[in-house]
Amino acid sequence: MEVLLEQIIIYGVVAILIILTVFFYVRQLKRNSRKVEEKIQRAKEEGLHEPVSLHPEIDVNTCIQSGACIEACPEKEILGIRNGKATLINASRCVGHGACFHACPVEAISLVIGTEKRGVDLPHVKQDFESNVQGIYIAGELGGMGLIKNSVEQGRQAVENIARAVAKSRDAEYDLIIVGAGPAGISATLQAKKQGLKSITLEQDTLGGTVYSFPRGKIVMTSPMDLPMFGKVKLTETRKSELLSLWEKVLNANNLKIKENSKVEAISKSGELFRVRLQNGEELLSRAVLLAIGRRGTPRKLNVPGEEREKVAYRLLEPENISGKDILVVGGGDSAVESALLLAEQNKVTLSYRGENFQRIKPKNNERIQSAILDKTITTIFNSNIIDIGENNVQLSLPGDRTETLKNDLVYIFAGGELPTQFLQKAGIEITTRFGHAMLKHQKKRSR
Ligand SMILES: Cc1cc2nc3c(=O)[nH]c(=O)nc-3n(C[C@H](O)[C@H](O)[C@H](O)COP(=O)(O)OP(=O)(O)OC[C@H]3O[C@@H](n4cnc5c(N)ncnc54)[C@H](O)[C@@H]3O)c2cc1C
Ligand code: SF4
Repeated sequence: MEVLLEQIIIYGVVAILIILTVFFYVRQLKRNSRKVEEKIQRAKEEGLHEPVSLHPEIDVNTCIQSGACIEACPEKEILGIRNGKATLINASRCVGHGACFHACPVEAISLVIGTEKRGVDLPHVKQDFESNVQGIYIAGELGGMGLIKNSVEQGRQAVENIARAVAKSRDAEYDLIIVGAGPAGISATLQAKKQGLKSITLEQDTLGGTVYSFPRGKIVMTSPMDLPMFGKVKLTETRKSELLSLWEKVLNANNLKIKENSKVEAISKSGELFRVRLQNGEELLSRAVLLAIGRRGTPRKLNVPGEEREKVAYRLLEPENISGKDILVVGGGDSAVESALLLAEQNKVTLSYRGENFQRIKPKNNERIQSAILDKTITTIFNSNIIDIGENNVQLSLPGDRTETLKNDLVYIFAGGELPTQFLQKAGIEITTRFGHAMLKHQKKRSR
């Protein structure tokens, strides 16, 4: 009897311990899920939940909630665990470096571009990087697969193929014109030199592409890569300044100069050759063209007098280095508002917007700008259009044929961007809108 009682007590205690452990475990899981759910709600309100480009897609039937993807992701809160499965939180912040893809122990993650609702335009690119137009090649993020390492690799491989396919001709000024000087264009430029091709690289802005516009303190994650004319670059975590100076050093050592501030506006066929027209009207002839223009498009210009001045910019780099200036920020979207708020910490900022009020900005930005207007750290002029940019001032037009002149040192214009889709289509390149197209997936998965 005593033995039985003892056994009942032991089993009872063990059972209670198990029940308590399960209870606390389930409670913790529920709490964590609630937190993730709240984060998702906030991301939805702030417009960050819906993916815009490359992002992870989770196979919930395979996911075992190891959390390895969350640990591995160097960006903030893109993934979380909800109800025992990995899920997307701030998906639009994913930069597609795929650390989650490699980290998942059960291969439950694929990297896809576009979603069922939101398609992404992708040009047709063959395995050798040639588009549907014979002689026009595409490398880097424009083809859909981003990342510095991939772009460098594709730029090199594309030029190897071009060198094989394109016979040199005496009629053409160039064997190859490379458009864009991000990681893909830089690597292609170096490879073209290695292959002995007569080539030129045209960049609408400055050397470095998207990397140039990273925030100064950002940790750049990459994998070791082969840079033509240099060899193995063994960086895994670096800073943008380190990468940019490496590229500059290698280009200089090989006497290569990128033609900056040279936007390509059109590409057309001229007999056997391609005619490449720049924004300034200049035209160049080439046997082949490599498009390494990324996916970020071109900032829209306002075409007002004085816009060509050096003090005018279309992106904000290193605001911490700008102080004591009179600044005009133009635009009414999130980029304009966020830039105005950052600059207002050390400068006198006026925000000019042609609309009557801010309508399409994130709720958090709206709160912050309203309080900056209230405490007069930013002056906002609605219903205004910039009409002239002088050396030390700017002129705005206001309703009722009025104008206002402001003292000014710097102008930042955020009037949206022109995506390269039209430019590509005019050159004859076919574009398909992809809805959730897998760019990187594990072999076991069925193809879509
Ligand atoms: C916020 C953020 C963080 C990221 N972090 C990482 C990271 O840590 N690690 C990583 O590997 N990747 C990262 N990426 C992705 C990486 O930056 C891109 O995948 C890579 O830069 C793509 O290289 P690309 O050469 O194809 O294009 P881009 O770098 O976009 O370069 C394209 C160039 O073409 C030029 N161009 C465009 N149109 C024209 C035209 N008509 N005429 C002339 N020039 C033109 C542009 O001005 C630009 O300089 C990040 C991206 C972002 C946005
Ligand atoms: S691809 Fe990169 S940024 Fe996107 S979720 Fe995975 S690790 Fe994070």
